[in-house]
This record gives sequence, C-alpha cells and structure tokens, in this order.
Amino acid sequence: MSATPRGATAVTIVGAGPVGTLLALLLAAGGRHVRVLERRADPRSGAAERGRSINLALAARGLAALARAGVLERVQPELVAMRGRQLHDRDGRGPLLPYGLRPEEVIYAVDRARLNTALIEAAAAVPLIELQFGRRAIDVDPATGRVSWQDAAGNAGANESSDTVIGADGAGSALRNALQNRGALQATEDPLAHDYKELHIPPAAGGGWPLEPHALHIWPRGGYMLIALPNPDRSFTATLFLPSLGAGGFEALTDSTAARAFFAREFPDALALIPDFDVQFAAHPQGKLGTLYCWPWQVQRVLLVGDAAHAIVPFHGQGLNCGFEDCVLLAELLERESDCQAACAQFEHLRRPNTDAIAAMAIENYQEMRDTVLAPGFAARRQLALDLEQRYPGRFIPRYSMVMFHAEIPYAEAQRRGALQSGVIDALLASGAGADSALAARLLDESAL
Ligand SMILES: Cc1cc2nc3c(=O)[nH]c(=O)nc-3n(C[C@H](O)[C@H](O)[C@H](O)COP(=O)(O)OP(=O)(O)OC[C@H]3O[C@@H](n4cnc5c(N)ncnc54)[C@H](O)[C@@H]3O)c2cc1C
Repeated sequence: MSATPRGATAVTIVGAGPVGTLLALLLAAGGRHVRVLERRADPRSGAAERGRSINLALAARGLAALARAGVLERVQPELVAMRGRQLHDRDGRGPLLPYGLRPEEVIYAVDRARLNTALIEAAAAVPLIELQFGRRAIDVDPATGRVSWQDAAGNAGANESSDTVIGADGAGSALRNALQNRGALQATEDPLAHDYKELHIPPAAGGGWPLEPHALHIWPRGGYMLIALPNPDRSFTATLFLPSLGAGGFEALTDSTAARAFFAREFPDALALIPDFDVQFAAHPQGKLGTLYCWPWQVQRVLLVGDAAHAIVPFHGQGLNCGFEDCVLLAELLERESDCQAACAQFEHLRRPNTDAIAAMAIENYQEMRDTVLAPGFAARRQLALDLEQRYPGRFIPRYSMVMFHAEIPYAEAQRRGALQSGVIDALLASGAGADSALAARLLDESAL
C-alpha cells in the first residue's frame, strides 16, 4: 500500500466515544486529517440521547494517554481521587484499604459522558478533525475503506474512501458486525452470568458528601456486591452487580418492594442514602456484561480498537484505560510507519497479548472484589504483598498496583509477574516467614523477580 500522504483525509474513525475521540486528537497531533462519524447527536448541543451514566475509574494508563493528547488539564476538574477501597459490612462498618504504599497511588472517578464531552470539545477545536454527528455507520467495504451510514431521519449515505478506517464504535460495534457478516472475522461474546444496575446517591442534606469522598466503596457480599464511586458534585454513583437469574439474582427482584427488602437486608447503610430508591430501581435499566473475543481486529483497511475489539468486564476498572492505551500505541505506529496497513497489523500483534491478559485479570478481580476481600486470609496476604514491595521496591509490585499505577508495565507482564509473586506469597504464608526473611530473598531470586 502507498504511503499515507500527510495532510490528506486519510483516516475515518467510526464512534466519537472516549476512545474514538482521543484517537482523533492523537492522530491530528501527528498531522493527519481525521473524519469522525458518530451515531448520536452532538453532546455539546444538549440534544444527545441520554446514555448510561457510567462513572469510571481512571488510572495511570488512561491518565498517561490523556496527557499525551494534551487534554489532561481540561478533564482534571471532572476527576475525584480515590485512595483505596472502603469496605462496608452489613452494619455499614469496615476498613479503608489503601490501594498502594505511596500517596500518588490513587485512582480517579470520572463520569464517562462528561469525559467524552470534554474530549469532543477538545477535538472540535482542532481544524484537522471533522466531526460528523447523527451518522450511524451500517457497513464498511474493507477493500476501499468506504463507510455507509444512515442519519436519524433514515437517509442513507457513504463517505468517500479512506486509507484507514478505525472502528471505535464500542462493544456492539457495527463495523465488527459488518466484517463478521462478510466472513472476514470471528467474534464471540462470553457473557457474564451477572448483570448490573446503577443507582444515584445524592449529596447529603446541606450539600456535603454522603460517604467518605476519596474512596471506592464496596459492599462485598460473596456472590454479588454493590460499589459506589464519587462524583465532583458530591453525589455518588452506586452499581449493583448481581446474578441475572435465580433466587439470589435480579430475577427475584421482581418489583421495588422486593428490591427494597433485599437492600434493607444486605446494604442498609446504602439504602438509607437513596431517598427515591423505589423509583430509581424501577426506572434504571439492567445492563449486561461480558468479554468480547474477536479475531482478527484488522481486515484490509479496517482496524477495530477499544471495546469494539476487546470489551471486558469492568471489575479491574481498565476497559477505558486499555482503550486509551490502544490509542497511544496506534498513533505511535502510524506516525512511524508510512504503510498504514502494516502499522495496523503491528498494532494487533503487539496489543493482543496485553488485551488478553487484562480480560483475564478483570474476571479474576470480580472474585476478589465481591468475595476474597472478606476471606480471613485476605488481609494477611495483602499486608505481606505491601511489605514485600516496601522491602524490594521495583522488584515486587502487587499485581493490582502494576495494572493501575505502572503504565510502563504491559498488562501481559503484570499478569506473568503477578503469578510468580502469588507463588512467593503462598510459600511465605505457608512457612510463616515474613518479607525480611532469607526465604523471601531466595524465593524472589528463584522466580527471577
Ligand atoms: C458498568 C461499567 C463500568 C465500567 N467501569 C470502568 C472503569 O472503572 N474503568 C474503565 O477504564 N472502564 C470501565 N468500563 C469500560 C468502559 O466504559 C469502556 O471500556 C469504554 O467506554 C470503551 O470506550 P469506547 O470508546 O471503545 O466505546 P464506547 O464508550 O462504547 O463508545 C462507542 C461510541 O461509538 C458510537 N457508536 C456506536 N455504534 C455506532 C455506529 N454504528 N456508528 C457511529 N457511531 C457509533 C457510540 O454512540 C459511542 O459514542 C466500564 C463499563 C461498564 C459497563
């Protein structure tokens, strides 16, 4: 394929979600013309369809990508720092478990819609980016890079050919479906047997915080859990994760009365903070979760990124962080490599081991959040991991910290080192030895950590 001429309309991105918009900013910073098609109305007009009010945890990888695109300062007012997990037992009590050893080891809550709007505002100010709202992509020709779309009135159209088309249109990607329908890729979703529902906790009477603001609150209950993340207006967004079926699942919460009784039993302190619980529970949708496996991500001129390529369950708080990391790598490769298809192939080759790793770690983390944090051995295990990190800085870093605070450690490496470290902790706990012991030193050497 010929070299991409700088300054030409070379890239079409489908989806102005957070990933598509950040990618547009990074590519434009490298001198490319970028056209972005988005099915929703322009959120700046206030006419946008109301999406799910997901509030997310942003960590080092996401923050590094925002800084790289020069928009971190713009989104900073939307961020609320969370220093650790505040656990709640049935009496509303529990410890605050700091995420890391150092004060800078914090993660940040942000509302996805507000983050997205901030990115769209930044993109709209860049002359090389052309934003087209109200255009729902329905098909793509991978040989020509021509994207067909429909507007809200049902009018159909197609964009002129593009050297490169990026599908950043989320977990339900229309581009992925179009390529799958052509037999050009295979995609399967591994659904989680648990669904989620969001509930809004308003600020306290008088305008204060209803809960400790700088924490991610968790009500772990074994097979399910409630969590809550802070918003800058001193409200919280709570999310209930529960099996979809069965007597202990959403299926059994047939009406607000059943739901209220369930909350009164399991999460009484949270229920007390939601005055309009019945209305919210009845009105808010029950969302589905799952892991998407898709192969390949690249078909001729088309490449899938973000959730369109590798949607994951949200329990490590990494789906968007990972999508943002995609953007940085792809922009770098497109910058370096004049052959766009070669750059996209390299992207897939380099990125897939890492997205596979975070997909697996995200599923494992659900177990930890809803269950393991309650187990008798969890506190001892966690303390030993932190002691080892203190004793061997840089050599032993808890896996959670590698994923959340160490953007320089690829996910696959965090998974690999995490498994070795877990073996070291098992052996130390079994022998009763601590982080300062000779055994710890020997085990770290033997594991080449
Ligand atoms: C409950 C929950 C909690 C989560 N928590 C976290 C967290 O704490 N941390 C984290 O990092 N991630 C989290 N995630 C994951 C995160 O939301 C996603 O990874 C992220 O939104 C993916 O961004 P994206 O831009 O790839 O896709 P999306 O955000 O889905 O954006 C896709 C965009 O494409 C547009 N679009 C769709 N179809 C078309 C079409 N046919 N034509 C044109 N445009 C189209 C959509 O309107 C949208 O604007 C969570 C997800 C859920 C469900």
